[in-house]
Amino acid sequence: EPIADLLDRLAAVVPDYPRPGISFKDLTPVFADAEGLKRIVDEVIAPFAGRFDVIAGLEARGFVLAAAGAYAAGTGMVTLRKKGKLPREVHAEDYLLEYGTATLELHRDDIAPGTRVLLLDDVLATGGTVGAAVRLVERAGAEVVGIGVVLELDGLGGRQKLAPHEVHALQRV
Ligand code: IMP
Repeated sequence: EPIADLLDRLAAVVPDYPRPGISFKDLTPVFADAEGLKRIVDEVIAPFAGRFDVIAGLEARGFVLAAAGAYAAGTGMVTLRKKGKLPREVHAEDYLLEYGTATLELHRDDIAPGTRVLLLDDVLATGGTVGAAVRLVERAGAEVVGIGVVLELDGLGGRQKLAPHEVHALQRV
């Protein structure tokens, strides 16, 4: 089964969530399916095989992909978290939301300088969140070798915002 068909079959689309006019792509049924989870994890990391030392996941759905991908690839996994969740010294990067700003944090010693990092998240929209993640990894002196997402929402400029970083999406919608 092509990955696009699997995603069409398993992913849920929720109209008017979290606000009227927004069509929310919910991947939790894909995570909950044995074949679905294995396919998305294997295929999101495949293009980057052999090119990364660690996988960083964005809270919270990115953790699912990053932990499973790191286990499969035999690497470690790093958590990029929302403000105030990490207990030790952090790098912090603000990013724009539709209304206001948010902050993403990384433990300063979780990624050593020179490390090759693969970033994973579930959905790429405007690229604001992943953009902050890229800046955090670079603040640690490490290198972003690629960005993998399950779904890319076309027309929001995410891929352009992240250029020249390599973005791999399993499906563009
Ligand atoms: P961005 O910062 O605009 O690229 O938004 C990406 C972030 O918002 C990611 O962490 C996604 O998990 C979340 N997000 C945006 N749209 C959706 C959606 O339709 N489904 C699930 N998550 C979404």
